[in-house]
Amino acid sequence: MSERIRTTRSDTLLASVGGRGVLCGIYDEDAADTYHDLMRDSDGTSEAQEFATLIRPASGPVLELAAGTGRVTFPLLELGFEVTALELSTAMIATFRELLENATVDVRKRCTVVQGDMTAFALDERFERVVVSSGSINVLDAADRPGLYASVREHLAPGGRFLLGVAVAEAVKPGQGERQQELPGLSGRRYVLHAALLPSEEIHEITIYPAEETADPFVVCTNRIRLLKAEQVVRELEEAGFDMVTRTPFASAGQSSPDVLLLEAKVSGA
Ligand code: SAH
Repeated sequence: MSERIRTTRSDTLLASVGGRGVLCGIYDEDAADTYHDLMRDSDGTSEAQEFATLIRPASGPVLELAAGTGRVTFPLLELGFEVTALELSTAMIATFRELLENATVDVRKRCTVVQGDMTAFALDERFERVVVSSGSINVLDAADRPGLYASVREHLAPGGRFLLGVAVAEAVKPGQGERQQELPGLSGRRYVLHAALLPSEEIHEITIYPAEETADPFVVCTNRIRLLKAEQVVRELEEAGFDMVTRTPFASAGQSSPDVLLLEAKVSGA
């Protein structure tokens, strides 16, 4: 997928840097360096442990949707689970596979990587647990989310559970309009993260770019993230024929108070 989202900020930046400018989606190939620089030490272990409390050992493979570069997948594998990781972006999968090559044989054997769209996938396997880590649902439009719920229903084994992390913290509060902060990359390079809340929709326009104005190439990464509330997701799940089983707030890595709600849902009547 190479979705090139333009934001007001990316338009301004690219107009001023001329030929050095590169526009890409944050999950695209051109963004890979930036993504790794900013995300490499972003640790999904505590999140994986939360999911793990709701996964029975030896319950067969877990299906993780929108697995990215495996922030949560690798900790799940380390905990001993078998994981089928589904991801849409070719660039993210390439990095995932590289990381997998460097993992132990044991971990490699327990992981299957599949390219697919979480809103419309068809695997010939059913799973006791389907997992979506926090934040991933926020990349989907309202129009696409029913496809996720329907696809998940189709892939749950009898008695299976859908485990979904929903971020409760908001990068920009409604009314706040926009926000900008500098982020250090692991390489020592610094980036600017600009977030704008579009007035008419509950959407953040995210633009990430080098703090160094002379950077060449000047890579401008963009993304759109919805401001999904947990209650909204719960309502949608119920409309899609799920019953809620548990709701567990937890603090993800580096947070002192709960910033994610872990929802456990099952197919109604199952
Ligand atoms: N779950 C990972 C990645 C989160 S980023 C983590 O917690 O770190 C969101 C991911 O969703 C990106 O890797 C993006 O490529 C992927 N994605 C976006 N739309 C998708 C879709 N329709 N189907 C599958 N993956 C998708």
